[in-house]
Amino acid sequence: MTTQFLPTEQIPGCPICQHPEARFVGHFPEPHIEEGLSVHQCLNCSIVYLNPRLTLEGIHMLEDSSEVYLYDAEQQAKAVHDREGIIAWLESMTQLKPGSILDVGCNRGYLLAAAARRGWQPFGVELSQVSAAEARQRFGLPIYSDLESLPQGQLFDLITCWHVVEHLHHPVQMLRQLGELLTPDGVVAIQVPAYRFADEYIRQGNGLHIFCASHPFHYTAETLTMVLEQAGLQVFYCDESPKYLFLTIYAAKPSRSINANQQAQLAAQREQTNQKLAWFEHDHAAIAQTLESMNAYVQHLETTLKTKNEHIAQLEQHLQTINNGRIMRILKRIKR
Ligand SMILES: [Zn+2]
Repeated sequence: MTTQFLPTEQIPGCPICQHPEARFVGHFPEPHIEEGLSVHQCLNCSIVYLNPRLTLEGIHMLEDSSEVYLYDAEQQAKAVHDREGIIAWLESMTQLKPGSILDVGCNRGYLLAAAARRGWQPFGVELSQVSAAEARQRFGLPIYSDLESLPQGQLFDLITCWHVVEHLHHPVQMLRQLGELLTPDGVVAIQVPAYRFADEYIRQGNGLHIFCASHPFHYTAETLTMVLEQAGLQVFYCDESPKYLFLTIYAAKPSRSINANQQAQLAAQREQTNQKLAWFEHDHAAIAQTLESMNAYVQHLETTLKTKNEHIAQLEQHLQTINNGRIMRILKRIKR
């Protein structure tokens, strides 16, 4: 990693709604921005953004300087296997059958390789040439350098955008482009670090995973929904997970059939109920365990009490014996 300072720009107001006033949220030292990170929240639309921020050139320089870590065969097999679970979950939550999938910012292609295993036709977009080459070579995936290079007229049933949107300078523009690439019932699935849990990132010592030079924006469920709506998309599922500290959102064209959205919402509710059930079972097991250890303690107390009573009885007997001795001596004395 480089410690060289990168070019920054001061912006006159909110990059989303252009409102000039913002609330200062905080300042953090950062190795790539000389001034450090200054985080602000727009007083009009509430979006959280960096000001100053890296210029687009600065972002490219940063991306080019970051090392692409290459997995060995075993790590790769596990990475793909884990992502099959993500695809299966996406299928159940969106009610989509395998069709065409576009992964924007597909990195080394693990999510696409997993999708292909489940019958999806994969397409990837990746800026990093090293990562793109890796995805092509290891999995034979069709990887493009940007959205404009995708095959003309190709539409997608599912577009995944995992930890990408927080890196964009122009999220509305990019998401509108993605909306245009959707089939009528297609879904855009987005995941970003959840700003709602910023304190938790810091508490866990992972502050740089959220506050860093490459994240010009920080999103909550409300602000990401706003950005998607400005891009002409409608959110039908949203989850801010305190376990993973991520915000996951699914959106579609407003014309997506109501039936498909209802089914997706039902699936989402089912998933949430299952999660609650799992927590309930977990709690139930914990309570049962506490009860068991309390019973053991009560039993222990009863044994202790019994022993103590026995000791007291013995002491009483001893006292009785001693007293008896004294009385005998007194009687003897009187007798004399
Ligand atoms: Zn704003």
